[in-house]
Amino acid sequence: MLKKNRLFTPGPTPLLPSAQVAMASYTAHHRTTDFRAVFARVLSDLKEFIGTQNDVLVLTASGTGFMEASVSNLTSPGDKVLVLTAGKFGERWISVAKAFGCSVETATAPYGSTFSLDDIRARLTPEIRCVYVQATESSTGARHDIAAIAKLLRALPDALLIVDGITGLGTTHLDVDGWGIDVIIGGSQKALMIPPGLAYGAVSERAWRRMESAKSPRYYFDLRKERAAAAKVETSYTPATSLFAGLAAALEYVRQLGNGDMVAGRRALIDNAELCAAMTRAGVAALGLKLFAPSCPAAALTAVGAPAGTDSTTICKLFRDRFGAVVANGQAEMKGQLFRMAHIGYYDYLDTVGVLAALELVIAETTGKAVKFGSAVRAAQEVYARNMSEAKGRSLSAK
Ligand SMILES: *Cc1c(COP(=O)(O)O)cnc(C)c1O
Repeated sequence: MLKKNRLFTPGPTPLLPSAQVAMASYTAHHRTTDFRAVFARVLSDLKEFIGTQNDVLVLTASGTGFMEASVSNLTSPGDKVLVLTAGKFGERWISVAKAFGCSVETATAPYGSTFSLDDIRARLTPEIRCVYVQATESSTGARHDIAAIAKLLRALPDALLIVDGITGLGTTHLDVDGWGIDVIIGGSQKALMIPPGLAYGAVSERAWRRMESAKSPRYYFDLRKERAAAAKVETSYTPATSLFAGLAAALEYVRQLGNGDMVAGRRALIDNAELCAAMTRAGVAALGLKLFAPSCPAAALTAVGAPAGTDSTTICKLFRDRFGAVVANGQAEMKGQLFRMAHIGYYDYLDTVGVLAALELVIAETTGKAVKFGSAVRAAQEVYARNMSEAKGRSLSAK
């Protein structure tokens, strides 16, 4: 049978067709009124998409570039910082902070789980200058409770909260200003449905003040320089112009999801991810498979443990060989143990049901055990149907 190449990975994610067209036809030079119009619109739309009054900046880099910027711009060598880590992306915060000479404290949770708030509270000493965390840990499929973590931090007026929302933005509700998130970071290749190459973030007034005294070295990722440039509708260096054109189209798509209202569009995108994730979890359970992060599953992706007698490397290979579907293996020491199916951005009902129909065949082939075909698909359909009838009930009672 034919195989279409389809991404089910937690970044890069499937591309939005209108954004692809916008990128392919874009030729503007970056120091022109044409580009300035696109740039200005992207900045103001991103503010609404993130849901913040803070300054928003876009860097030509993958998401890690903004992670680095939020260490180099906010710390001085020797500063004590707290990293909350429960997976490979949490560990990336530790590596970046160490690279800039921070004295790194950690609050850890085992892979597949989230933090104990008491454990975090015990580590929040007045010397902590910054707290770094993920909204959703893409290596394990866990969602962290950013609202509760932000609340704990109110006890420490000098600690900035920096959230890697690279897979959290557009898949989970985050009240950035209300909760007091000082920096939140997103990446173009996740919920915004365009290729990798742009990192964006919102930066609070408290964080801008911190930058006045922060002494870590920085050059390309100098946020104050970028803010000054953005105030003149400029970028410091040559931006990835085509990606900006794609981003403008993607943000327009999100706005249209909300019938012209970006906030409603963002909610619709998040609800879509939540429903795809709920359908996937039901399908996985129907096959007797185990979630890797059962107590705190993210809507961004579903991580599933490889069943006994097989491994996720074989499962991912079969997904690809049989169906052209790219499903992510576990990272580093988790390789072989789990596979990850994403719901970030441009996924719909047919994608979700289709990958579950493929999963049934992949599990049958890898385990050699009898699988009741249609059981995962059916469980997912039931979740979808229940959601539809509840939504109808809500709109009837609202009338
Ligand atoms: C994708 C991702 C990143 C960024 O990785 P890049 O390869 O630099 O774009 C960071 N954090 C999380 C949670 C991610 O999912």
